[in-house]
Amino acid sequence: MTDTDLDTRKLRKVLDGLDSEIGRLVARRDSIAADLIRHKGKPPYDPAREHEIAGHDAALWLPLLRRVRTAEGARLTLSSPKPGAFPSQGFTLIAGPCSVDDRLEENLEVVARAGLTWVRAGAWKPRTFPWSFQGEGLPALRRLRDAADRLGLKVVSEVLSEVDAPAAAELVDVVQVGARNAQNFALLKQLGSLGKPVLLKRGPACTVEEWLGAAAYLDGHVPVSLCERGVRGFDPCFRNLLDIPGAVLARQLGGFQTLIDPSHGTGIAGLVAPMVYAARAAGLDGALIEIHVAPRESPSDGDQALSVDEFVELVRTLAGVDEMVPVAR
Ligand code: PEP
Ligand code: MN
Repeated sequence: MTDTDLDTRKLRKVLDGLDSEIGRLVARRDSIAADLIRHKGKPPYDPAREHEIAGHDAALWLPLLRRVRTAEGARLTLSSPKPGAFPSQGFTLIAGPCSVDDRLEENLEVVARAGLTWVRAGAWKPRTFPWSFQGEGLPALRRLRDAADRLGLKVVSEVLSEVDAPAAAELVDVVQVGARNAQNFALLKQLGSLGKPVLLKRGPACTVEEWLGAAAYLDGHVPVSLCERGVRGFDPCFRNLLDIPGAVLARQLGGFQTLIDPSHGTGIAGLVAPMVYAARAAGLDGALIEIHVAPRESPSDGDQALSVDEFVELVRTLAGVDEMVPVAR
């Protein structure tokens, strides 16, 4: 053996020793962090604490990655998130047409007949092109409120702009912030002061940390639930790439009730039910889906809307799953 070989071996040994020391330190840190969280009885990601740290020394601002990799993050399972926009027990299914259109009342009857409590429909539609159907605004929202009241349904509906938010908040049970507005901080601040619970979609290019940052604008002011609706992917087969692990991670780190929207998250009606079952099995809190009595007549997103039969089958299967499968939360 040459002298160089010997030196290399010695150095390798020193590195191995350091590696196992680091391993021991990380494990010890994890266990202290876990004890601390148990002691505080708070969700693993505590925005107040993060702000405290950031205020102390900006350089200490901890990126999400570190929280993910320590016991403060994803290794802890969060059994019950903080109160959100929807009931804290069970899996909430919210269904309805993409937009308030001519067939609104029929669509709502389908939702009510299926035994659901929550309906969705948009009065203001964020469309890629200005020549596409934009929604009929406040009069449409009033129509939605009236029809829902007649059927005893609760309303989730999107508000696009600060200008309409105060009037819209009076008419809905839960205000939806859409993907395009996920980081519209002026709107988020305003909604924090309007008193209505908010369903905050994830922006199509938001990291989980940015999504939680947006939620922090509302947290402590109004109840917040998160909704994963797919991020920008690379495969043109899908409208978006539904990120179920991202939703589970956001729930665990942020402590927020978290739902999925597999309609916008995939853009494919045939994938909606399987993704709802997947979210249910993953311990998420619910799903927001699009349905329509005549999908081809819908002025927006007809391709991803479930037909009445598909919707009824989904509701029946979910009810069966509820009876049969204990969900790990
Ligand atoms: C919607 O739910 O109607 C909608 C427009 O969704 P997103 O903001 O996720 O695109
Ligand atoms: Mn839609």
